Amino acid sequence: MTDQSQIDALRDKPIPPQNLLIDGELCQSASGATDDVISPLNGALLTTTPAGTKEDTERAIHAARRAFDDKRWRGMPPAARKKIMLRWAGLLEANMLDLAVLGVRNNGTEIGMALKAEPGSAIATIRFYAEAIDKIYGEIAPTAGDVMGLIHKEAVGVVAAIIPWNFPLMIGAWKLGPALAAGNSVVLKPSETASLSLIRMAELALEAGLPPGVLNVVTGEGKIVGETLSHSMDVDVIVFTGSGATGRRLLQASAASNMKRCYLELGGKSANVVFADTKDLSEAAAVSAAGIFRNSGQVCVAGSRLLVERSIHNDFVAELAKAAAAIRVGDPLDLTTQAGAVNNPTQLAQNLAFVETAQAEGGTLYHGGNQILQDTGGYFMEPTIITDVAEDHTVAQKEVFGPVLAVTPFEDEGGAIRLANSTDYGLAGGVWTSDLSRAHRMVREMRTGVVHVNTYGGPDVTVPMGGVKQSGNGHDKSLHAFEKYFDLKTAWFKL
Ligand code: ADP
Repeated sequence: MTDQSQIDALRDKPIPPQNLLIDGELCQSASGATDDVISPLNGALLTTTPAGTKEDTERAIHAARRAFDDKRWRGMPPAARKKIMLRWAGLLEANMLDLAVLGVRNNGTEIGMALKAEPGSAIATIRFYAEAIDKIYGEIAPTAGDVMGLIHKEAVGVVAAIIPWNFPLMIGAWKLGPALAAGNSVVLKPSETASLSLIRMAELALEAGLPPGVLNVVTGEGKIVGETLSHSMDVDVIVFTGSGATGRRLLQASAASNMKRCYLELGGKSANVVFADTKDLSEAAAVSAAGIFRNSGQVCVAGSRLLVERSIHNDFVAELAKAAAAIRVGDPLDLTTQAGAVNNPTQLAQNLAFVETAQAEGGTLYHGGNQILQDTGGYFMEPTIITDVAEDHTVAQKEVFGPVLAVTPFEDEGGAIRLANSTDYGLAGGVWTSDLSRAHRMVREMRTGVVHVNTYGGPDVTVPMGGVKQSGNGHDKSLHAFEKYFDLKTAWFKL
């Protein structure tokens, strides 16, 4: 168990200027330019990261290509690769608290959640894919006797992984684990506002014995580093988690360059549906509150739309508001904090603007709605509940990515299904009911990649995670994630 004094010992630890990682070397940008890294906890300057250029990014892509072509990684015996990745997981574990605190200082997630969801889940994910390396077989096709069809699984080549700021280690590991386990080379581009723990994670991969050039990291702006990756003729696959707008640009860049595959996880507007027959409505209210307000709503699967059966609407919302009021928002490095900081001032302004628009369109501000703790110099917002939200309101249709819950009543199961499916998104959802048949019907009818039943959040690496509709395509986690990182090759023999 981590105690507060261990965290406090690390909270002001100086962070040296950061480096790019290219071809196994830590280096500055060729231009010498850097970006300031500002802490969302207090607005203070934490350190600098290199402002990666087109030239830096191309150097990283070439290093990754060379590493792939000369087979220094994919040519190793699977058991040897497994050993290196397990050693990496071990080093991450040995540095777990350092990584968690560094990440929180950089992105603002409450430490209780960060410990589990960041290094905690990243370690489990790297281990899961490491252990899979020597358990993945090719196939023999069921052909006629005079021929033989072998199906090989081959690494695809150079993977560009573009990562957001809400859970950099967890989402980074979801991409790096299977990409590297499959034998690919990677160029990793962290978010501008949450790169520090990922840089450290990559340094530890080198220490674990990952050969130079197999994992490269280029920090910098999306419109420079990201665009160079997406337009490259030498990147084979892009794996991305972030906004729909950027996802669209990636698809356009792919079409305009080498038609590289793009696997996109683009957020959601997930419906959490509460029926009157729910066994424990207090528990449903508490879990639903956590399902939208933890990490200040900066969770792609957050249950940001509450659909509640009209007969219990008023009581349930009152109970939920009680749960929201009890959430301790504040210092992300305090173990008792339940919702930390908003990652950056632009996001905070966006959250507050959504609250304004919601009211202007006819919604009622039922709870919260304000920026708080301004004296810290950091970016904090109250858990916010908007009721009387109609299906076509902006707050019912657009992802806020903040602690803002939109509440809409429904009359019956058919109405709940229709409302649940009434957005362009399809990432996640939740259903609360004590009727087993209804639960299964709802799982079938909700057009999303994940449906939680009588809970919200929490699945581990063993199950796939991905969206339908405009929430994206492809899956992170589970063995299904390998589908993005392997090519199938048929070998056809005449016997
Ligand atoms: P968010 O709203 O979560 O910041 P973004 O899509 O802007 O969503 O950012 C997610 C990641 O995508 C970040 O690493 C960011 O730098 C990167 N990114 C932003 N713009 C582009 C772009 N034009 N091309 C490629 N990557 C980009």
